[in-house]
Amino acid sequence: MKIEVVPIGPSELRILQYIVDLISKRFDSDAMIGTRTPIEKFKKNENRDQYSSARMMEALIDMKISKKGALLGVANADLYTHSLNFVFGQADRVNRVAVISISRLKPNFYGLQDNDDLVLKRVGKEAVHELGHVFGLDHCNQPKCVMFFSNSLQDTDMKEDEFCNKCKRALDYNLKTWRV
Ligand SMILES: [Zn+2]
Ligand SMILES: [Zn+2]
Repeated sequence: MKIEVVPIGPSELRILQYIVDLISKRFDSDAMIGTRTPIEKFKKNENRDQYSSARMMEALIDMKISKKGALLGVANADLYTHSLNFVFGQADRVNRVAVISISRLKPNFYGLQDNDDLVLKRVGKEAVHELGHVFGLDHCNQPKCVMFFSNSLQDTDMKEDEFCNKCKRALDYNLKTWRV
């Protein structure tokens, strides 16, 4: 199974490579970095200083040539949906695309000191979580499981970048039985 990681805006290669390595392991897949999409392709909501995650999902669906595999957009921009002030990420399991935002995973978004390792860990968890949805998983009630719903960064920092046994079994089943 192939997963393409699409940078949206000027994401760091180090972060993209970390995501590729982690999702290759977690989804037993052939992950790669795809062609960068300029952030200028999207219209910024100037009042909110944010971009619509729905618009990004639409663009990712257009970019996805093959029905197989999955596509993960990694946006270096703050995202919102019509119902939420912000989103860490969003997933569409029908079209098998997802997007995550790096902005709010960075301590300096909150006026705190940068911490590159912490950012990598958070980005990895968000990437695995959204792709977990793409491959049919719902939220999990185990706080350490990567499929636990993160309401805040505290939740994100509490959980691991791995699936609990129950989610892992469901994922293995989906990957085996779906024509991925
Ligand atoms: Zn979720
Ligand atoms: Zn779980």
